[in-house]
Amino acid sequence: MAIHDLLQTCRNIHAIGRNYRAHVQELQNQQPEAPIIFGKAVASLCSGSKVQLPSDLGPIHHEIEIILRIGKHLGPGCFEDLNCISHIGLGIDFTARTLQGQLKQRGLPWHRAKSFQDASYIAALRPFQGPWRPLHFSLLKNGSRVQVGNTENMIFSIPVFLRDLNQHLPLEFGDLIFTGTPQGVGPVHLGDSFRLQCPDLKIDTTMTPVSAPPAPA
Ligand code: ZN
Repeated sequence: MAIHDLLQTCRNIHAIGRNYRAHVQELQNQQPEAPIIFGKAVASLCSGSKVQLPSDLGPIHHEIEIILRIGKHLGPGCFEDLNCISHIGLGIDFTARTLQGQLKQRGLPWHRAKSFQDASYIAALRPFQGPWRPLHFSLLKNGSRVQVGNTENMIFSIPVFLRDLNQHLPLEFGDLIFTGTPQGVGPVHLGDSFRLQCPDLKIDTTMTPVSAPPAPA
């Protein structure tokens, strides 16, 4: 199935925050005792070789993440195993970082900082067939490797946070899950070029923002 069709069936985007130790440290956050779960607007989904990010929300950071697509309906508490995953892939959880910090400081939801146009970028999705194998992935910005991750380094593994998520929420056919970002997040500027790589999934996708905050003079 083409990526466009896979994204068409998405009704919910769930995301896991602070799921890699070194990233928790770089943002000077506390390591969570339970998975941190938040939503992103489905309308912010995008794919392809170009993204259009807002230039008026302050700094926007890239967060490369492994993406899961759910392949069946699971009522609350029905999670059993990873067979509920239909696809696995790679994407970027774009985040308006300063805005997110301001909202966090005021104790407010950070939805505004995570759901702007093209904030949920999916590079590629591959059919998932178990058993689970660790995935190594990375993000290159203008040719330099800025983020490197391995799913082995997650604080909450995929079965652990899926069980936790599904304890309270139904998971629907087509739902997409952003599983958290490793260290190395940083700003996106107009003119940057990104390359998302996961050799284990045979993904190597290049993407350029055609709209984004301007590069500093
Ligand atoms: Zn994220």
